[in-house]
Amino acid sequence: MPRRKRVEALIVGAGVAGLSAALFLRDFGVEYLIVEEALQPGGQLHEIHAPIQNYLLGIGWESDRFAAAFLNDVRTAGISILVGSPITRIAVRTKTVMRGSERYQAKTLLIATGLRRRALGVPGERELESRGVSHSANRDRTAYAGRPVVVVGGGTAAVEDALLCSEVGSQVTLLHRSSRFRARPDFLARAKKDPSIRIVRNARVRRIVGADRVEAVEYLTRGSRTVRVAKAEAIFIRVGWEPRTELLRGKLRLDRGGYIQVGWGGVTSAAGVYAAGDVCSPRWPSIANAAGQGAAAGWEIARRLGKAG
Ligand SMILES: Cc1cc2nc3c(=O)[nH]c(=O)nc-3n(C[C@H](O)[C@H](O)[C@H](O)COP(=O)(O)OP(=O)(O)OC[C@H]3O[C@@H](n4cnc5c(N)ncnc54)[C@H](O)[C@@H]3O)c2cc1C
Repeated sequence: MPRRKRVEALIVGAGVAGLSAALFLRDFGVEYLIVEEALQPGGQLHEIHAPIQNYLLGIGWESDRFAAAFLNDVRTAGISILVGSPITRIAVRTKTVMRGSERYQAKTLLIATGLRRRALGVPGERELESRGVSHSANRDRTAYAGRPVVVVGGGTAAVEDALLCSEVGSQVTLLHRSSRFRARPDFLARAKKDPSIRIVRNARVRRIVGADRVEAVEYLTRGSRTVRVAKAEAIFIRVGWEPRTELLRGKLRLDRGGYIQVGWGGVTSAAGVYAAGDVCSPRWPSIANAAGQGAAAGWEIARRLGKAG
């Protein structure tokens, strides 16, 4: 599809939700454009490191195979995507979006921007990314087998990462900023009994230390000014995800967590603006949900444009 600056439907984000919407828009003959900031589409599919267990046609598939098959289908379907640069401004009333200095005008917008990992926002985090700073023990734990590591977080992902690191012989310090964990009780019970896992509650990471690679993690515990140091060759940061709605604050109705509030077919609080996938699904982020919501939103947009019954 040639690049157009005026389109009937503009989709922000080429993850499962945005791409599923595009399929329906294409089928209904809607002129659409998808803009994706990454160099390739797929979004979080590239973050999955365990076999898929809950999506039909992909059960038991390694995640790489699943993502590759998905992208192959995108190519086969002829969905063209503008990649490599983000949408930087969205005006919901006029449905105008900016991509750097390029301006696009649409009759309808679909926001399918998904989630991003929440960061700690401490010195060393960005600088040592992939040099000891990791977001997945499932992917990276063997590189640190038998070495001291820190895991940060209090949810299931964090506790699971602590257990995975312990399984490969690492000595784990699990830092959680609160006194209460939100993790699966069975995981937490196992972690508490595990002699290789030291749990530190009410702990806030202050700095990740290392010249070229992670060497230690500095943290403070509540009520104390003493900087404590955990020797570590890796830090697994598992402090959750947040919706990518920073361009929409004050423009669309969001919930307290920043997720877009939607009705049937992904309608939002602004006429002609729709949302689909994880960006509006705090309760059930999944491939199946993103595909379903994307399809529904695509259909609903086509209906609004008078192209679907
Ligand atoms: C580690 C992990 C394991 C998972 N395992 C499973 C599983 O086993 N089964 C399952 O069903 N689900 C799983 N999921 C969840 C599933 O991957 C997601 O629910 C689904 O992929 C979400 O799709 P989405 O299109 O809503 O969002 P995303 O995949 O987040 O896509 C959003 C896209 O929008 C782009 N974007 C964001 N902002 C902009 C902007 N301003 N301009 C342009 N582009 C932008 C992003 O780059 C991204 O490509 C897992 C997720 C993770 C992280």
